[in-house]
Amino acid sequence: MAEPLVSVRGLEVHFPISGGLLSRRPLGVVHAVDGVDLDIARGETLGLVGESGCGKSTLGRAILQLVRPTSGEVRFDGQALTGLSDEQVRPLRRRMQMVFQDPFSSLNPRMKVGDAITEPMLAHGLATRADARDKAVELFRLVGLNPGMLDRYPHEFSGGQRQRVGVARALAVEPDFIVCDEPVSALDVSIQAQIVNLFEELRERLGLTYVFVAHDLAVVRHLSDRVAVMYLGQIVEVAPKRELYAAPLHPYTRALLSAAPVPDRAVEAKRERILLQGEVPSPLNPPAGCRLHPRCPHAMPECRVVTPRLRQRADGHWVACHLYGED
Ligand code: SF4
Repeated sequence: MAEPLVSVRGLEVHFPISGGLLSRRPLGVVHAVDGVDLDIARGETLGLVGESGCGKSTLGRAILQLVRPTSGEVRFDGQALTGLSDEQVRPLRRRMQMVFQDPFSSLNPRMKVGDAITEPMLAHGLATRADARDKAVELFRLVGLNPGMLDRYPHEFSGGQRQRVGVARALAVEPDFIVCDEPVSALDVSIQAQIVNLFEELRERLGLTYVFVAHDLAVVRHLSDRVAVMYLGQIVEVAPKRELYAAPLHPYTRALLSAAPVPDRAVEAKRERILLQGEVPSPLNPPAGCRLHPRCPHAMPECRVVTPRLRQRADGHWVACHLYGED
């Protein structure tokens, strides 16, 4: 890969938790993200997939420094973000945006959406009061909304329209990189495809780079160039999209894929479900060795003690699993 736009090395995000009414005694540490290495190329869309609670959203936020990592490094366009103060990160934030599952949770319900879009432009000096409105009209058109709706309030928009407003607001500061955090999970299936297509069109038109977080491999299939699969705070497999869907290597990826219905009836009839035993363990006390071992149908004695490292098995196809041996 040429110089990546985003580079992550050894990233850890741990949250200490405490309990007790008076003593607030420490109860342990949640290992939300635990040793992630990742490069994201300019113009690339990386799908980031895993069950809820696996740390994918925290990883997205830690890349943007919305959550400060416990350790490790994040570089954006060659500059190390970790170690910078909030003040030093602020000017870079304009170039790195986030689109949320519920974009309106961060909007003032009493502010017209047009003002919510022009506000960040003005704050970053990207428009004057005179031309901010024209830019908002342009952005509304770009995301497929009628500019006549700029003077409406958040509650007057449908779910799909809200997500378009969220995208317009992120684009208002002309970012290079966007973390899309489950942006279609709360939408009807019929609307999901429209929003995924919108992200794709915008990437082509504006040369954006995305991390697209989802709990469902089917959602990221269309849009992603590569897909990374997370389990309990760690990346267990990363591969170019085609390869990941055609020849998944990690037992967890295979189980996730086997759970997704296939539209082709003949293929669907032959689909074999791979069931993982039990529930996802608590990130407060992740299992030793391979974190999947209590649930994995292929677990071997070494899986209980030795943590498998991500290793490249084919061009760009990385997997962390003892089934494929050590180099
Ligand atoms: Fe299963 Fe062992 Fe591979 Fe982990 S390392 S996924 S337990 S086979």
